[in-house]
Amino acid sequence: MGRVNNRTNASASRTAGKSESRRMSNADRSAYFARREAAKILRRVLEGDAQRRAVASIKSLVYAPSVRNKKGTFALVCKTLKYLPVIKDVLEAADLLSNKWKRQKELIYVIMYDILLGQKTHLAGDAEKFLMRQQSALQSVVTHILSKKKANNIEDLIAHGDDPGVLRPRFIRVNTLKMDVHTAIKELGKRYAVQKDDMVPELLVLPPGSDLHDHPLVADGSIFMQGKASSMVAVALDPKPGWEVLDACSAPGNKTVHLASLMNGKGRVIACELNENRVRRLQDTIKLSGASNIEVLHGDFLNLNPEDPSLSKVRAILLDPSCSGSGTAAARLDHLLPSHVEGKTSEDDLERLNKLAAFQKKALAHAFSFPAVERIVYSTCSIHQVENEDVVQSLLPLAESYGFQLETPFPQWQRRGLPVFAGANHLLRTDPVEDKEGFFIALFKKKQNTTHPSSRISYRDKSSRNRGGNIRNSWPLACPPTKISKLWLCTLSTRTRWRKNYTSSKTRTRT
Ligand code: SAM
Repeated sequence: MGRVNNRTNASASRTAGKSESRRMSNADRSAYFARREAAKILRRVLEGDAQRRAVASIKSLVYAPSVRNKKGTFALVCKTLKYLPVIKDVLEAADLLSNKWKRQKELIYVIMYDILLGQKTHLAGDAEKFLMRQQSALQSVVTHILSKKKANNIEDLIAHGDDPGVLRPRFIRVNTLKMDVHTAIKELGKRYAVQKDDMVPELLVLPPGSDLHDHPLVADGSIFMQGKASSMVAVALDPKPGWEVLDACSAPGNKTVHLASLMNGKGRVIACELNENRVRRLQDTIKLSGASNIEVLHGDFLNLNPEDPSLSKVRAILLDPSCSGSGTAAARLDHLLPSHVEGKTSEDDLERLNKLAAFQKKALAHAFSFPAVERIVYSTCSIHQVENEDVVQSLLPLAESYGFQLETPFPQWQRRGLPVFAGANHLLRTDPVEDKEGFFIALFKKKQNTTHPSSRISYRDKSSRNRGGNIRNSWPLACPPTKISKLWLCTLSTRTRWRKNYTSSKTRTRT
């Protein structure tokens, strides 16, 4: 019933929107639609933030194909978010919104930005006209708030921070499956100052502010907009052409297709992803990259059976699991969200971090159990020790029991792991301020002449057995679901100790 009503409302408002827009000039019409596109994105961002779930970043929502005026919409969303606390205060004090307008509050916020701080032009549309009629009431509320807070203007009411996006260079990874680096430099060099990165051979550096979202080379998958730290992860794994490689937590697939490109499209990349919607994004990324050696597995990495013959030749595993994303918060513009409080970690956050770390440890432990694996990269875009050094340190005895040791990815890179255990200098960190993104990379390499200690090791987690549903026939799951702790058949004492410490946790949070 509710659904039918919603649809009726939605189609009524679309019809109203069409007839409203028919009466407008071109400039009015484009401003009218930009505000509505911005309001739609704002709604998704605010809903996600209220549930402390990053549905998608503001940028990825704005750069979806359905959004027409990307630049204008992005600016409007960011500016509205920046002034949202003031906008809400003014609306609350003015108390002029009926239920009808409250249901469209995100649109009201966007229009309020234009009325209070924007150019006040092209304000055609019913919601716009409604707020313009209230302009003098709104203005007197603003005056009252300013005098109460001893501020000269609305700008003064906002906490100012540097815009972290301003000085960030634009990194471009050349998809060598489609274009060589030399040609990419030549093409991009027609419009931008292009330099080669000093660490990742297929990475190019463009000046801050270079906007390539609509560039034809991005549209056809010849180049990917991928940050430096993110591009270092697949290179650290160093997969060779012809290898079988498993990307354990793969969507949206930037690192998956980077692996395929490093392997010259030769060999096999198995891309595992739990979340159904993200599987679709992964498939889109793969299609765009032109890679033909990637196989997508929709399901839980923890349920992958390492004994399955189809996984018996996996030589390298990239594990880039769900994490807090704290290292890329600035790039995602999290500082604009209502939940953001400078420098504060709440109890909720701590609980979330601990749950994430529990999953990260289980996933890394599982990676060690693949019989032919020689190299494992564990990476996060988190700055938290609990998701980084602590995860690695807690698994060192288990890694050792499988014959793995830490290796040093990118030895020339200065910033290493926090010195919380001997050997943390092997780990790699990037700094969210200095390097503009906070990433963490650990590389485990199997020592020469180590044989897989037990062919019976298995790892199951009942809670995640059927999550994601729709597991394909090729899914290498052999055994019935059982609690993880019951199925650790390994006799080595380190593994037994490890098992006692970490039992199954059902919670997943951010991706
Ligand atoms: N490596 C990806 C890239 O560079 O594009 C980003 C990976 S993202 C940080 C983590 C991904 O792991 C999410 O898409 C999430 O849905 C997925 N994921 C979380 N738990 C998983 C599990 N148990 N098995 C497989 N995938 C999982």
